[in-house]
Amino acid sequence: MDERKFFKESQSSKPANLTCPSCGQSDTYQVRWIVRTKRKDLEKSLRDEDRRKFLQLQSYMVRQDDLVGCKNPRCRKRIEITSLQSIVFL
Ligand SMILES: [Zn+2]
Repeated sequence: MDERKFFKESQSSKPANLTCPSCGQSDTYQVRWIVRTKRKDLEKSLRDEDRRKFLQLQSYMVRQDDLVGCKNPRCRKRIEITSLQSIVFL
């Protein structure tokens, strides 16, 4: 299935509160996501088979960042983002 045919893709970043496992400091980080929104104007132009698939689809976003750099200037270690899902349905 060609997802680009069914979804409009855009970039977004959302704040997330993360705690660094190295230094224990919590801070807000901007995490980047790719947002795939179902095309609204598409349904009528699809063939039956595609339309059935399309109706079952849901808009969703995929997380792009797996790591952020700790904001604590004395630490600067990488924080692995494990507390957020990698796919979120909208
Ligand atoms: Zn840290």
